[in-house]
Amino acid sequence: SYRKGGYHAVRVGDSFAGGRYIAQRKLGWGQFSTVWLAYDTQSSGYVALKIQKSAPQFAQAALHEIEILSAIAEGDPSNSKYVIRLIDQFKHTGPNGQHLCMVLEFLGDSLLRLIKYNRYKGLELNKVREICKYILTGLDYLHRELGLIHTDLKPENILLCSTINPSKDPIKSGTAPILERPEGNINGGAGISLIEKKLKQRARRAVARISERRASMGGIGTVPKPDRCLDGIDLRCKVVDFGNACWADKQFADEIQTRQYRAPEVILRSGYSFSTDMWSFACTAFELATGEMLFTPKDGQGFGEDEDHLALMMELLGKMPKKIATGGARSKDYFDRYGDLKRIRRLKYCALDRVLVDKYKFSKSDAQEFAQFLVPLFDFEPEKRPTAEQCLQHPWLNSENLIQNEVQGEHSIEKVNVGMRNLQIKVGK
Ligand code: ADP
Ligand code: MG
Repeated sequence: SYRKGGYHAVRVGDSFAGGRYIAQRKLGWGQFSTVWLAYDTQSSGYVALKIQKSAPQFAQAALHEIEILSAIAEGDPSNSKYVIRLIDQFKHTGPNGQHLCMVLEFLGDSLLRLIKYNRYKGLELNKVREICKYILTGLDYLHRELGLIHTDLKPENILLCSTINPSKDPIKSGTAPILERPEGNINGGAGISLIEKKLKQRARRAVARISERRASMGGIGTVPKPDRCLDGIDLRCKVVDFGNACWADKQFADEIQTRQYRAPEVILRSGYSFSTDMWSFACTAFELATGEMLFTPKDGQGFGEDEDHLALMMELLGKMPKKIATGGARSKDYFDRYGDLKRIRRLKYCALDRVLVDKYKFSKSDAQEFAQFLVPLFDFEPEKRPTAEQCLQHPWLNSENLIQNEVQGEHSIEKVNVGMRNLQIKVGK
């Protein structure tokens, strides 16, 4: 992709915007862009520099993203709404063409990485609550104040506000900026993440402790895994990636959202609005708490991924009301006129609180309370789903104190993966 119309190749120490920004290391990349940590010589802080591929369709997409990011920044002058902030924009001409560049505030790891480094066993519920509040604050702002639908909400698109953010104090945190291109360096590498760094530190300390103990006892111990790697990490986070966002009254795509986070009205082509983000939000909250995606549809013999997806939804949430099932432009592809799926006939129902208890080993009360928060967000009727504003008032999000006062043990449940990847087995497929 590093050719005409594609990515711009960057080297550590390269400068941009007439020398204002200096590339430090690569942070990540997407379909359309590479993202670099850059030093801003004007503010003496760090920023994320998103450099778009140069071909016209990518430039067009960047202009759309910039328009949306500008509206987000304008509506939130104090930057307190937990949504990514656009700082600057410019064009950069390189051997592959002219690239639109976005300068964004520098953030940390994505929630997907957080889940991964927690070894896919789910975060403590109090941490999930905390994260949910930030996401909902961001969504409420986007929906109610701006009229924007994100359309691609998922753990990957929520980034932590890094606690060791070097923009605060580069000298103290031991990350003095690189101001010119070092010799022999061709690429910034992938960069080490905050959590990776913390985990490595902890592992080193654990190993040191063990060898100390071994030495003193002369015996053989087992090296503990670096557990509780999230202790002491502030989990403030922000919603990012507005490449696919749209105004509620100016939509352009019918097929939106990443598969696993896609709402039923999108599959059925019944039209969507803000509530479609609320579905994805609920899928994200479940994933944070369990470490696994809620819906992972697959095609099978005689049926497609979409029909499997609808079946999985109904197995968890009950039968879709006939009016909804048959009301979309694509309904006839999946449902008969009675509102039953055409190819997947026998569904095995299992309610969300039971899944949480049986598969994820939640305590009964934790499961019930969490399900009471999530299930209304999975209403098949989009208009009935609570808004982000309403969600923020839900007792589940505000029961932290109550829970902290209870016995510690009951809430640090060990979520043993029982190896049943899919409790919701369809009979006769
Ligand atoms: P694309 O639109 O091309 O998919 P994204 O905006 O999703 O690009 O960014 C690609 C990757 O770059 C992200 O997954 C993330 O790892 C990293 N990234 C993006 N924005 C930031 C940021 N503000 N701070 C830190 N890393 C970022
Ligand atoms: Mg992306």
